[in-house]
Amino acid sequence: MDVTGSGPAEPMIRLRGVGKTFANGTHAVRDLDLDVGRGELVCLVGPSGCGKSTTLKMINRLIEPTTGTIEIDGRDVTGEDAVALRRGIGYVIQQVGLFPHQRIEANVMTVPLLYGESRSVARRRAHELMEMVGLDPATYADRFPHQLSGGQRQRVGVARALAADPPVLLMDEPFGAVDPIVRVRLQDEFLRLQSELGKTVVLVTHDIDEAVRMGDRVAVFAEGGRLAQYDTPVALLGRPADDFVADFVGSTAGLRRLTVTPIDEAHLEPLDGVSTGDLGSTIDVDSTLEEALAVLLRDDKPMIGVRRGVVFVGVLTPNGIHRALRASLR
Ligand code: ADP
Ligand code: MG
Repeated sequence: MDVTGSGPAEPMIRLRGVGKTFANGTHAVRDLDLDVGRGELVCLVGPSGCGKSTTLKMINRLIEPTTGTIEIDGRDVTGEDAVALRRGIGYVIQQVGLFPHQRIEANVMTVPLLYGESRSVARRRAHELMEMVGLDPATYADRFPHQLSGGQRQRVGVARALAADPPVLLMDEPFGAVDPIVRVRLQDEFLRLQSELGKTVVLVTHDIDEAVRMGDRVAVFAEGGRLAQYDTPVALLGRPADDFVADFVGSTAGLRRLTVTPIDEAHLEPLDGVSTGDLGSTIDVDSTLEEALAVLLRDDKPMIGVRRGVVFVGVLTPNGIHRALRASLR
């Protein structure tokens, strides 16, 4: 939080002019400027091969950048000891990467043990982390990875990355290996966890729906490691910077914007003059426009009531939804 009034607080992660050209001549990332604020969840999204994983691995120096500087918490980390750096950064890799011959407990204990904790402290910490990600230690601690579902394995991967309580968490397609229903559940669980933990998170995905659902901001990468747009979900879907982004967010971007835009009290209408027969159910003012529209369609009424707690604050019509969508881009 900035208390000096001298401008925005220093970002937790700052990339300036970062590029990576591999030995075989592939330009994976070019001239990348990217800031990630403290406690912010940023999604890197784009088609396969556009440099997302390479960018993530440059932040924890699993890959050394060819050009540019990377600062974490105000320190230039390009000259720092890479192993020490990685200890302060949680990392969830693309294929989860659990040790197949170790029980779940041992998999999660790896990191605390690495830090020199005793076995009993490491075990206690592992059980805490398992509970945190919704895996009952009594049931799962002694299982092997192959005895878990894909979604459960992903949770173990998240638990392990959080083991050292790092301020920064890098996640590479963390929900990639599960079916769409489990994926949404894992996304929700992670967002709930993140609202408690407030980590600075960089999450890679190739799924634009996941990106706009999870991200405070979304960075869209294009072929050749070019950053095409870096914006809030609402701005990204409503004002794509170029044809590439417009194409990538797709023709249903308008519908997706409903999912990321909250109801705005300024676009409600007063109750007077409304015949109660026109009024469907009521919905909480904290709902999204998508939830509001879903209720309108379900009730087959021209408007729904909006309340804050038990207090009625107005009625929302399809026109109001349209106005709120437009206003969200101002
Ligand atoms: P993404 O995660 O967006 O799918 P990557 O960052 O993994 O993409 O890869 C970006 C580009 O760099 C791709 O063209 C990929 O083939 C290439 N690449 C990745 N790693 C290496 C490597 N070690 N050597 C050479 N080329 C690589
Ligand atoms: Mg990748």
